[in-house]
Amino acid sequence: AAAANRIAAGEVVERPASAVKELVENAIDAGARRVDVAYADGGKRLIRVEDDGHGIPADELPLALQRHATSKIDGSDLVNILTFGFRGEALPSLGAVGRLTVTSRARGASEAVCLGVRGGNAEPPRPAALARGTVVELEGLFTATPARLKFLRSDRAEAQAIGETLRRLAMAAPGVAFTLTDRSDPDSPREILRLDAESGDLFDALGNRLRALLGPDFLANALRIDAEREGVALTGYAALPTYSRGSAVTQHLFVNGRPVRDKLLLGALRAAYADLLSRDRHPAAALFVDLDPEQVDVNVHPAKAEVRFRDPGLVRGLVVGGLRQALAGAGH
Ligand code: ADP
Ligand code: MG
Repeated sequence: AAAANRIAAGEVVERPASAVKELVENAIDAGARRVDVAYADGGKRLIRVEDDGHGIPADELPLALQRHATSKIDGSDLVNILTFGFRGEALPSLGAVGRLTVTSRARGASEAVCLGVRGGNAEPPRPAALARGTVVELEGLFTATPARLKFLRSDRAEAQAIGETLRRLAMAAPGVAFTLTDRSDPDSPREILRLDAESGDLFDALGNRLRALLGPDFLANALRIDAEREGVALTGYAALPTYSRGSAVTQHLFVNGRPVRDKLLLGALRAAYADLLSRDRHPAAALFVDLDPEQVDVNVHPAKAEVRFRDPGLVRGLVVGGLRQALAGAGH
């Protein structure tokens, strides 16, 4: 099982930012209203994610960390693991690549419980002090695998990637407050990001979150997108052609609340602006596609964030059509 976790870990955790992604997604899944992320040395020395979500019941904590402890996957299944899907694999994977400590207090529980994973093996749970929610700490990422450690970039670059990952996740959860703190120097923690929880209707909350993340210019030059086709919804904001950028980093795409970089969606976005922009310009956008989970496979590539739609033509048509309609409405 430890071997299986290390293989899976290679897919899920390629750098500190991927660990942050898994942990913050878990916090959001747990209904957190605030999520505090901290790191030291670009996340190599420490990644810490604290949330006020529903917590993990003491009797489920060992299970959450060892879900695939009895899995039959061994070295001969290296091919199959690519299609395995990584549901329930994040925490075990993190326990395989660093010193993992999870402290949690389930709603209504009289005390918190803490569980450490050392060298891939879970220690016995012990009582701990925590008012609510969950704290996950990952220390010494890849120190047991120096070859993996060598592939990481500078602390600065890894910290940058953590920031980008958190900003993307925060975009999809405007109702949740976030902080990001660099704790490399224990004597003077540095706040990198602070986002208040946004309220109001979907467009107000998203608009305010986008203003906080992308600056007021984007929102002032963006159209509301609100379209639907055969049960697939497209919402968000897309920039007027006059507010295009020379880089694609301003294109933020989400499927069922998860950040993706998907060729089909990026192509549809480009196609919608094809007659309005030259090839070297990229429309800025924050777009959310929501559909029945049965209609999409988001586990194609856990690390690369690609998806596979059951009906690609429908999704493409919705994105191109929804954007063109909004652009036409604005006189383009
Ligand atoms: P997955 O998210 O795919 O279920 P994970 O390995 O990321 O798998 O987490 C395993 C389980 O641990 C989750 O299903 C959830 O029950 C629990 N869990 C993990 N993180 C949290 C958290 N921050 N708050 C509450 N429960 C959590
Ligand atoms: Mg998870």
